[in-house]
Amino acid sequence: MAQAPVDIVDRPMFRERCGAKRCGAHSYVKAERADTDLYFCAHHGTQFMDGLVMHGFTITDLRDTVLPQVQG
Ligand SMILES: [Zn+2]
Repeated sequence: MAQAPVDIVDRPMFRERCGAKRCGAHSYVKAERADTDLYFCAHHGTQFMDGLVMHGFTITDLRDTVLPQVQG
């Protein structure tokens, strides 16, 4: 029996950086499709979420692990 893919469960973020243009922040959203994997930070993951789902990507969402930012 194949082992369950548990390795991402307790990881706070992906190793890859956000793929959005000129961003490069830590990524918290992984979008997988047969032809490619994309990674986005929480901001760009939220921004592109609807389009990614619409284009058939399977989303792994770690945005709830982002620590709250102190608002200035
Ligand atoms: Zn980003």
